[in-house]
Amino acid sequence: MTSYYFDNNATTRVLPEVLHAMLPWFSEHYGNASSSHQFGQFAKEALMTARGAVAKFLHASSAEIVFTSGATESNHMAIMSALAMHPTRRRIVTSTVEHSSTLRLLDELAKTGVEVIQIPVNAKGELNLAQLKTAVTEDTALVTLMHANNETGVIFPIAEVASIAHKKGVLFHTDAAQSAGKLALDVTQLACDFLSFSGHKLHAPKGIGVLFVKKGITAKPLIYGHQERNRRGGTENQTGIIGLGVACQLAQLAISNANSTIANLRNEIEQSMLNMLPFVSVNGAEPRVPNTTNLCFTGLHGEELLHKLNKAGVMASLGSACTAGDTNPSHVLLAMGINREDALSSLRLSLSKETTADDVKKLVSILTQIATEMRSPVTA
Ligand code: PMP
Repeated sequence: MTSYYFDNNATTRVLPEVLHAMLPWFSEHYGNASSSHQFGQFAKEALMTARGAVAKFLHASSAEIVFTSGATESNHMAIMSALAMHPTRRRIVTSTVEHSSTLRLLDELAKTGVEVIQIPVNAKGELNLAQLKTAVTEDTALVTLMHANNETGVIFPIAEVASIAHKKGVLFHTDAAQSAGKLALDVTQLACDFLSFSGHKLHAPKGIGVLFVKKGITAKPLIYGHQERNRRGGTENQTGIIGLGVACQLAQLAISNANSTIANLRNEIEQSMLNMLPFVSVNGAEPRVPNTTNLCFTGLHGEELLHKLNKAGVMASLGSACTAGDTNPSHVLLAMGINREDALSSLRLSLSKETTADDVKKLVSILTQIATEMRSPVTA
């Protein structure tokens, strides 16, 4: 059976060029970059090149890049670093729709006395900036906010929020796991002090990620060791870093062309669904990343829809992969004021530059047929 993969916000396929660049680093060039012999030095030089490519991708400098295991770790490191930098400031400002990797850590920190303020969003998924402005006080250690939402694709006005934080002398972190590879990222324009992302969301392998730490800011290690300028210990994930360097180069080269094609395909899915199925609506409003749509199929049981799609070869999701298996409605959709039933009837479809017009045609035909049958089951 042919598979149609529409779950690229969960993870993407490693591109052949990325895999090709990584392969020699498994068993040919297997030196440890900390070793002083030839093999080690060869590995070290390749790490420097990859770090340079990642830095260029963010318009940062190489010294500002810390390689981690992924965005979860990077988010943790940014939050813990901000608290360590300002031991007397015990407030963190965030939103109600952050990824669980941020919210779960903040829940734990709240138990230790950290005051966590979650700024609400409206029905379109837009952040309440007026509330954010009043929540950011001199005793705030960090404002941490995602760049693009993993479930709806809605983009937050990061530069504006960073400026609000900086006016109060507060550090700003953005979780760019869902914008890296989808939007051009420039840490100076975004004005962030920390920025996180994961390789596997932009066609690099799983288990490699980045924390950008602005020059002059002291990152607190979560794992101690001499690597990454004493900021993240442990032998470097050499193959992952090489792969990430290439993936960043490819993403940067292709971003504007690929994105208009992806947006057209995404819009085609939305328009077809809205035209053909009167019970469908779109969750989340522009600005959104070009690859994501979150569709509510009012009256349908989302889990059942997902299961039927899977049987027909279509891979999608109800929300974040990190909460899959959870029968509770998405916290993101609930935060947007969507009722429980509609939240449980919503489906996320996420495309990549590998998604073809044929895939979209097939998806539209399968989805329309399944949803129509589910709405009006044939009774014998
Ligand atoms: N933040 C966001 C917005 C995400 O979508 C994800 C991945 N679903 C993460 C953080 C965590 O990334 P990882 O699981 O690669 O650490």
